[in-house]
Amino acid sequence: MSWPPLREELRGVAPYGAPQLSLEQAPVQLNVNENPYGPSQAVVDDVAASVAAVAGSLNRYPDREFTELRGALADYLHHEAGVRVDPAQVWAANGSNEVMLQLLQAFGGPGRTAVSFAPTYSMYPEYARDSLTTYVVGRREADFSFDLAEAERVVAEHRPSVVLLPSPNNPTGTALPHEVIGTLCELVGDGGVVVIDEAYAEFRRAGTPSALELLPAHRNLVVTRTMSKAFALAGARLGYLAAAPEICDALRVVRLPYHLSAVTQATALAALRHRDELLGKVAELRGERDALVAWLRERGLSVAPSDANFVLFGEFADRERVWQHLLDQGVLIRVTGPEGWLRVSVGTPEEMAAFRSALVHATAPQEIAP
Ligand SMILES: *Cc1c(COP(=O)(O)O)cnc(C)c1O
Repeated sequence: MSWPPLREELRGVAPYGAPQLSLEQAPVQLNVNENPYGPSQAVVDDVAASVAAVAGSLNRYPDREFTELRGALADYLHHEAGVRVDPAQVWAANGSNEVMLQLLQAFGGPGRTAVSFAPTYSMYPEYARDSLTTYVVGRREADFSFDLAEAERVVAEHRPSVVLLPSPNNPTGTALPHEVIGTLCELVGDGGVVVIDEAYAEFRRAGTPSALELLPAHRNLVVTRTMSKAFALAGARLGYLAAAPEICDALRVVRLPYHLSAVTQATALAALRHRDELLGKVAELRGERDALVAWLRERGLSVAPSDANFVLFGEFADRERVWQHLLDQGVLIRVTGPEGWLRVSVGTPEEMAAFRSALVHATAPQEIAP
């Protein structure tokens, strides 16, 4: 008998997570798509004062319906995407990862199937495993665009109760057009929910729509967002979704009691009051991203068009070697995506200069796969 008495399917499984190195080991950290710009003193002061204001009542449980925060998030979505949702259509948890796990707990489960299309976010199979949901993965086209014929086949064969799709996609940066999302919602029908994971939505290029616009047309559509990326608040752990109120009500059944702490609620509300400042660098990061894509292409590399704050590029005969060579020069990026590709997050102009210089040193022309 092996110890501890783990579930069979968890034995020997390594915990998810990119290498987390210290700033001494890797001064330029471009591996987990964080926003490189920290909060200003004004934001720090408001967060600290807001937390101080609730600290005196931490003997009490927080508002388990986080009513004020739902209102503030609904306001923000209206401001960002021009779409009005009622606070009853908003749900939040400790990161959008928790939101999506709750979706699987409510809409997945034994005898049910969740579907995604690869390359896709590596956490999805873990939500499925942890909620005892069967996980099936279809394929995207070779250029990472979405293949509706493949989706039709997979949905018809597996009748998923949950479809999970990032848009823009992680790790490729590819956004989904409205027609794809609308068609998927129709294919899945009332037997399932279609979750569009918009963790990177604020970085989308001009003309790329948000799935939020489709909410009135499809009651089985769920759009998740996070304050971790564009909002520069990864450390606070606040993710949320917009969907039909019936879907939010279902999540109230599976959430843990008082899952959003008073400290988290106060921090998120303070950050939302400073949204213009916290999002102020998004336009700059988009510009930096577009310049990075152009530079990588000039070097003869393949680059996936990106609507996110990261870029997938390749193809390398030995990507691990290139990754290590960059790290030796203090630049940490991510080995992810299909064999031969690497992903780099968009940082400050100084960080991008360090990345470019390290990559020039790391890659001889013969390094690039034919
Ligand atoms: C970063 C990321 C998230 C956000 O996770 P949080 O739990 O909100 O920090 C969600 N989905 C994808 C695809 C991501 O890359």
